[in-house]
Amino acid sequence: MQLLPLPVFTDNYIWLFHDGTRACAVDPGTAEPVLDWLQQQGLRLDTILLTHHHADHTGGVDLLRNSTGARVVGPATETLPEPVERVSAPERLSVLGIDFQVLDVPGHTAGHIAYHTPNLAHQPTLFCGDTLFSGGCGRLFEGTAAQMLDSLDQLAALPDPTRVCCAHEYTLSNLAFAVAVEPSNTTLTQHTEHCMRLRAEGRPTLPSTLALEKQINPFLRIRCPAVQTAARQHSPDAHTDVAVFAALRNWKNNFKG
Ligand SMILES: [Zn+2]
Repeated sequence: MQLLPLPVFTDNYIWLFHDGTRACAVDPGTAEPVLDWLQQQGLRLDTILLTHHHADHTGGVDLLRNSTGARVVGPATETLPEPVERVSAPERLSVLGIDFQVLDVPGHTAGHIAYHTPNLAHQPTLFCGDTLFSGGCGRLFEGTAAQMLDSLDQLAALPDPTRVCCAHEYTLSNLAFAVAVEPSNTTLTQHTEHCMRLRAEGRPTLPSTLALEKQINPFLRIRCPAVQTAARQHSPDAHTDVAVFAALRNWKNNFKG
C-alpha cells in the first residue's frame, strides 16, 4: 500500500493511496489530475472519501464517479454530490481492505468527519480534511470554538505515530504564527527551518505526525502555560480552555506573518 499527496489548486492536497491495482482518493476537489494519475499508474479508482462539503474538497466527485464507478463515502449530515454512502462516528469502514474508524470532528463545518486507520502501509494514518493542519487548525465557519477544541482533543488522543494527512499546504504560514505564540519553542523553530527547506525544493511538508504536532501546534498546546500566557496578551479574560482556544483562533485570523 502506498500513500501520496497530489497537489491541486494553489494549496490543496488530494491524498491518494493504492495497492498496485485499486486506489482511493480523499477529498478530490478536481477530477482531471486524479484521472491523469490513475492512467499513468495503471490503477482503478475504487473509493472516494470525503471529509466535508466544501467545493475544493468535492468538486471532482461527479466526474470521477462517472468515469470510474468509484464508491463515494462522506459525512452523514452535509450536502454532497449524490449518491454518497453516509457515515458518522463510531462507524468503521473497509477501504481497499484497510479498516478505518470514522470520527465526528465538527468546527470547520457542522458535519465534518475524519478517517483514522491503525495500519496503512504499517503506520497509523489520519485523513483530517480542514480540521487539523500542520501547525494550525481550520477556521470556524460553521462550528463553535468549544466544538473545534473537542474535535482537536479527539484527534490528539489518537496514537502519537499517526501520520497526519491534512488537505492544505498551509504549514509555513501556520508555523509563522506558532513562532509568534511560542518564540522559545526550539522544536518549533527547528521544524520551521526544515519546512522552509522542503518548500524551497517544491516538496510537501506533509504528512506530519501527531507526535510532532503536539510539540509545535499551538492549537494542540492550549494547556501549556507559555501558550496560555501568549493568548492572554491578546485576550486578557481567556481563563478557560475554550476561551484560550478562541483567543488563539481570533489572533490567528488577524495575524499577518
Ligand atoms: Zn473546508
